[in-house]
Amino acid sequence: MFKQVENLCNEITSELKDQYPAIRAWTFKWNDRLRTVMGRASARGKYIELSTHSVRINRNTPDFITRIKETILHEWAHALDWEYDGGWGHGATWKKWMQRLGIPPERCFSSTRWLCALNKAHYAIRNGRTGNVMFYSNKVSPSLFLEAVEKNAKQGGEMEDIEIISLKTGDKIGR
Ligand SMILES: [Zn+2]
Repeated sequence: MFKQVENLCNEITSELKDQYPAIRAWTFKWNDRLRTVMGRASARGKYIELSTHSVRINRNTPDFITRIKETILHEWAHALDWEYDGGWGHGATWKKWMQRLGIPPERCFSSTRWLCALNKAHYAIRNGRTGNVMFYSNKVSPSLFLEAVEKNAKQGGEMEDIEIISLKTGDKIGR
């Protein structure tokens, strides 16, 4: 999984560097400590990075490769914005770069799109088909599970799509 993501990232990176030489000094790296987001960009260090932990726990997230590709482009849009427009953050010039890279600018991935290790929660209960997270919790009690079933049903989800994911390993936990 890591190799696959890295290859994808290297491919995107070299294409972008050919097209936009101002970002040639920028590099890609893995970050082992980053836990609450999937990716990050640093203008000071001139790098974009992905969280190894977030990749690990999201490897079973639906459309993982499509989503990770969008995350990588999202981070590169920060680099391009910085180098070409002097912009930083998710402002108008960043949005322009997102559009140029073919990504809808409103699709800014946040912790609601990816599982993340929030508040030291051990588990996430989500709809495994859509990736929608119902709850993050330290413990999955029967009542919490029932609440998740209800929440999922209100969003039009099927009960059999509900899954519990370990936020340590990314494994699906049997119930
Ligand atoms: Zn961003």
